[in-house]
Amino acid sequence: MEKVLKCSASKTELTNDKGSVIFKCPKCGQADIIRSYHSRELATKYECPKCGFEGPN
Ligand SMILES: [Zn+2]
Repeated sequence: MEKVLKCSASKTELTNDKGSVIFKCPKCGQADIIRSYHSRELATKYECPKCGFEGPN
């Protein structure tokens, strides 16, 4: 089963986004933060769905 990943910031689907990244929240380490290439370029803020941590870092 393939999950549809969405950017945490822009909510865009990452199906064909080669520049996207997925990483654990730097604060709580539990939630996956997903950022699309587009959001990284624009330095769009992301927010952790678990602890509310915000940042582009
Ligand atoms: Zn977090």
